[in-house]
Amino acid sequence: MSAEARSAKADDDAYVYDGLMPLPVVTLSARGADRVKSGHPWVYRSDVRKSSAQPGDLVRVESERGRPLGTALWSSTSQISLRFLGPDDVADEREMFRDRLRAALAFRDTLAIDATAWRAVNAEADRLPGLIVDVYGDPSTPGDSKSRSGQGGRVVVLQTLTQGMDRRLALITDVLVELLAPVGVLARNDPKVRRLEGLAEETVVTFGEVPDVVDVREGPVRYAVDVRLGQKTGLFLDQRENHEAAMRYAHGRGLDAFSYHGGFALRLAARCDAVVALDSSAPAIAQLQANAARNGLANIEARETNVFDELREFEIARQRFDTIVLDPPAFAKNKASVERAAAGYKEINLRALKLLTPYGCLITCSCSSNIDEVMFQDILEHAAADARVTVALVEKRSQARDHPVLLAAPETHYLKCLVLRKLA
Ligand code: SAH
Repeated sequence: MSAEARSAKADDDAYVYDGLMPLPVVTLSARGADRVKSGHPWVYRSDVRKSSAQPGDLVRVESERGRPLGTALWSSTSQISLRFLGPDDVADEREMFRDRLRAALAFRDTLAIDATAWRAVNAEADRLPGLIVDVYGDPSTPGDSKSRSGQGGRVVVLQTLTQGMDRRLALITDVLVELLAPVGVLARNDPKVRRLEGLAEETVVTFGEVPDVVDVREGPVRYAVDVRLGQKTGLFLDQRENHEAAMRYAHGRGLDAFSYHGGFALRLAARCDAVVALDSSAPAIAQLQANAARNGLANIEARETNVFDELREFEIARQRFDTIVLDPPAFAKNKASVERAAAGYKEINLRALKLLTPYGCLITCSCSSNIDEVMFQDILEHAAADARVTVALVEKRSQARDHPVLLAAPETHYLKCLVLRKLA
């Protein structure tokens, strides 16, 4: 590209760094530099010594002695000031995004995902911190022709959760359109975490047309997904593989507690005589009922209720279940709430273990990143002891493979799913 063309391009999109201007520099304390060397992609405000960056800038990071540490995106408001893109310079942002998005997609292609809804980009674990990209209604999945996907093509739903990614929303949309050829791109930028970045909570179409409802398939189950108003980006895609795993243990009378649209209930129903599904959200229960009807499953009873109350009622009424799934929302949203959250997890698991028949299975989940697997297992051990039941641990599971964990950032391993078997 000529210098003239380059500067014209830079005028077009002021945010695209094209290698002509020196990057702002951020200098770290020795502790911050050590953290970077350990491979963790985040640097906290307290480890920043000096910065000349503006909100969302691509920056060069240096040690106090001026040694280069890598390239990162700057946040002016979050406690997490820097999110690393890598140790090298970024010569051309568009190329960097294209390379990383292409690599993320190529990896998903290798996973043989048995669904038309999947995660294309999982932030840190795809070296794109602050960016989530989900694909819904993918017509290219084997067995799902364009016409069968209902709305005639795939829809991309993305989230730019940091200043750095948010500033580049147009660029990211452009590259995703080039690589995925979707009918529409929706920025579901309504998560509360955006407040920490000083960003508005909003949902906007950034390309093409986004239908109100997208038809997708997960394994044998068909879902109608509201990508604008559904929780997360519409479905809990991180549980996809656990939905299938749960089915393998399902028998007798099943309970899906914290069901949402029936991710677990609709799979259990294929193997169980009857399934009770519980959720406190009225729209979630209505959608679950519609999904059950659509999939020809007549053995699911879905109820809008508070699971804590309902488990207590079941216990009083001496109800019993052979297969129970517990998939609550994250009880520990931050470090300060860990103790209370642990008490919540213990309570529901204790009650579920009491409601379980001998040799029944409990599939129990926690999506709190502040409660790690060791702690979760410890909570379950105490719940079993207090319920005076003996349990065997059958399987330890995590988030689906299209939601990989960054090894150097344990926080990115948020979803735990343990399969327990109650012994007689
Ligand atoms: N199991 C679902 C995802 C569940 S997300 C799946 O695999 O798709 C957690 C759900 O818990 C949400 O749908 C939320 O509405 C519900 N919820 C939150 N608090 C609740 C409570 N106290 N009682 C019942 N449901 C609750």
